[in-house]
Amino acid sequence: MFLPSGEVADVLVDRHRIAAIGPGAGAGLPAAEDASGKLLLPAFVDGHVHLDKALIRDGLREHEGTLTGAIDAIHERKRRYTVEDVRGRAREVIEASVRSGTTRLRSHVDVDTIGGLTPLEGVMAAAADCADIAEVRTIAFPQEGLLRDPGAYELMEAAIEAGADVVGGMPHWELDEASQREHVGLCFDLAEKFDRDLDMHVDESDDGGMQTLEMVADEALQRGYLGRVCAGHVCSLAAAPHDYAERVIDKCLRADISIAANPVTNLVLQGRGDRGLVRRGLTRVGELRAAGVNVLFGQDCVKDGFYPFGRGSMLEVALISAHAAHLTSRSDLAFALRAVTEAPAQAARLTDYGLKTGARADLQLLPVPSWAEALRLQPPPEKVWFAGRLVAENSVVSKLHRRT
Ligand SMILES: [Zn+2]
Repeated sequence: MFLPSGEVADVLVDRHRIAAIGPGAGAGLPAAEDASGKLLLPAFVDGHVHLDKALIRDGLREHEGTLTGAIDAIHERKRRYTVEDVRGRAREVIEASVRSGTTRLRSHVDVDTIGGLTPLEGVMAAAADCADIAEVRTIAFPQEGLLRDPGAYELMEAAIEAGADVVGGMPHWELDEASQREHVGLCFDLAEKFDRDLDMHVDESDDGGMQTLEMVADEALQRGYLGRVCAGHVCSLAAAPHDYAERVIDKCLRADISIAANPVTNLVLQGRGDRGLVRRGLTRVGELRAAGVNVLFGQDCVKDGFYPFGRGSMLEVALISAHAAHLTSRSDLAFALRAVTEAPAQAARLTDYGLKTGARADLQLLPVPSWAEALRLQPPPEKVWFAGRLVAENSVVSKLHRRT
């Protein structure tokens, strides 16, 4: 089989783990799997998805397509959530993700006074239902703000106590700068109190004046919370003056903050008011990458109020993100692969991930010889393994009927 590097290699799996990987690793042993000519990848990691909202779009009223429009349109539906409703939709997306080669997901889950802890209970139940095929972690996400939504902070505490793994946030959603700063402080207080990592929605706006990424970076640096923070979306950074953006990128680097760019959703969400040269909501992917910041791409939304598409395919996310971020050279494509594998694994501080000896055997085999061909042709993986166990198989039949 081929590795993403182009090397021809064998992989030896001993129960849950990779026992050996490399050229000739399986020499002298009978092949359990004939993978010659195919591409072996680590299973994808979706580092930023919203399983509680997934698949609700058909039941929503139409809105103008903006972030604010989507959040407002979801309120009515969120009031009607039940644990079983959320559980069923989340399970469907986890299963679709596994079929598409993803075995680890980190899901934001709304925590607010509209839905209470129902979304979290539903997603955690779905995660338990799917524990044999995937590992799902949850992020308590105050979608409606903390100061704007009195009672949300207490619910955030309750969510962490109920089992949410990571502290979320959305500081730019607060109504003024002082509240934004306070929101950031409250999120770090929670993270410190419960010794949790942070993964916040940050500056998901076209407004270059939004500066909550810098607030997050400053807080992480002051509190020594290094390597434990992920900032999602970060659209405003693209609209900010270059010298300001460079200063903030440097702070992110020093705080070892990961950036979850979600081009798939932000391409359709941002820039809606523009004429002519329409902004596309993409953060400074190239500059963050050049600076050495850990950048990942997430699915973010699956057929919800923000985005009508999405099917849990990180191969599709990588392709769309490659278009959005001008990724075409060999090293660019390798970066796109990293952004749906090693980068989200690093952001989630997974230590047993990857194509390396000792890593958990979360693997996928694709019917193409290279990553470039996988991106171009978008085949579903032929096989997906979770901790060494085969959990999904796909086969595609395509027939061309020529006149004889
Ligand atoms: Zn998001």
